[in-house]
Parts: sequence; C-alpha cells; structure tokens
Amino acid sequence: MMKNRILELLEFPRELVRGDMDLEECPHQGLYDLHDKICLECDQGEECDWLYGNDEFAALELHDQAQLLKALGFGLCYVRAAIAQWNHNIHVCQCTACSWFKQAQKTYDEALSGDEANYAGLNHHKVSNTG
Ligand SMILES: [Zn+2]
Repeated sequence: MMKNRILELLEFPRELVRGDMDLEECPHQGLYDLHDKICLECDQGEECDWLYGNDEFAALELHDQAQLLKALGFGLCYVRAAIAQWNHNIHVCQCTACSWFKQAQKTYDEALSGDEANYAGLNHHKVSNTG
C-alpha cells in the first residue's frame, strides 16, 4: 500500500531531524507547543513541529494519504538540503541519505500522479538493474 510505503519512508528523515535538533535550550524538550511564543519564534520550530507531528507515537496510521504526502514533501526538502550540505552527488552516491532521497522522490511522484493502482503493473516493465 502506498500509505505504508510513505510511513516507512518517513522514518529516515525523522531520525535525521531528531539528530540535528539542538534541544538544550528548549523548555519543551522538543515537543512543539503551538501556543507557546517560544516555539513560534524558535528557528527550529518548523522541524520540531514536523518531527512531532510525524512521530511514531502520533498515530500516523490515522493520517490520510494527503497529510502523509505533505510530511514526505517536507522530509524530501530536509534530506535534499542535508545532501547538498554534504556535497554528495545524488546520482552516483550510494549512502543511506542519497538512496533514500531517490526512492522517496519516486514514491512521492507516484503518489502525486495517483497511479498507485498501476504501480504493481508498471513495476514489471521496469528494468531494475541500473547501477
Ligand atoms: Zn550520499
């Protein structure tokens, strides 16, 4: 199922965001509080909001596909920025981040174009031994 694939894909950027955040000065230990001015003005606010809105405890299964896709879009931006910072060439690099990005981008595009039903069929015609 497309939803399950998106859920699986969200794991990597979640770990990345979590690792990148500096929570030493955070009064909420990273639990984004919509009603706290500190969170609204915090420069980690967006990552924090995303991380805890997409936490494994946040009952992701209850989100609909559009919400998950939006979350994946943020994850894609985040990982792309990290890859750019590391100067990886996404087309040749085999690291977890680059591999994830290629796979996630593909899934994202598929979900957007709404050909989930055709995915299994399309897959049979694809040559998968590139690289
Ligand atoms: Zn890489």
